[in-house]
Amino acid sequence: MKIEQLKNTIIDIGKRMYDKEWVASNDGNISARIADDRVLMTPTRQSKGFLQPDMLTIIDLEGNIIEGTYQPSSESLMHLTIYRSRPDVRAVVHAHPPISTAFAVAGIPLDRYILPEAILELGKVPIAPYGTPGTPELSASFSGIIDSHDCFLLKNHGAVAVGEDLMTAYYKMDSLEMLAKVVFHAKLLGNVDEIPKDKVDILVNRRSAYGIKGRQPEL
Ligand SMILES: [Zn+2]
Repeated sequence: MKIEQLKNTIIDIGKRMYDKEWVASNDGNISARIADDRVLMTPTRQSKGFLQPDMLTIIDLEGNIIEGTYQPSSESLMHLTIYRSRPDVRAVVHAHPPISTAFAVAGIPLDRYILPEAILELGKVPIAPYGTPGTPELSASFSGIIDSHDCFLLKNHGAVAVGEDLMTAYYKMDSLEMLAKVVFHAKLLGNVDEIPKDKVDILVNRRSAYGIKGRQPEL
């Protein structure tokens, strides 16, 4: 995909994240890998609902600005840590979807067998320990998680979703917030039943029959 198309997709996703109230004010960040060592990154201190193409900056995997006039996201290090450790990842979406983030605040991981789509797309969604935003502490917090998960919560902060392209990462965040909403409401109703493990195995074995590409995230 050409850089202009990638910029437009990032702008579209930013608008949708803002409209869905996954990000308030200038929260959240989105990036796409455009070459092995080049990443297109959203800017710091700008609303993701009102991005323009010239606000997106190209950086290398060390965070040096290669092209662009806007300062890249203060969470660039988190994105770059993921790109360095996962060569298969081409896009990273970070947001603060309120129900998912509530689970991260409550310390309740979304790691049970609840919805078929979430099992196939997300696997278990763990919570990385709290790390101060914008510091190496945050990137270190998910070092034991990112290798085997495409989606995880950040304690008292938000959520991260990765994928082989921007829309895949965005849809994982979408599936995560839907899962969080359903579990939240089931808890309010007073009971959360799980899909039995033998049925989960049948589901996962049908992964290719559902047309789902990529590896199964850890269950
Ligand atoms: Zn954040």
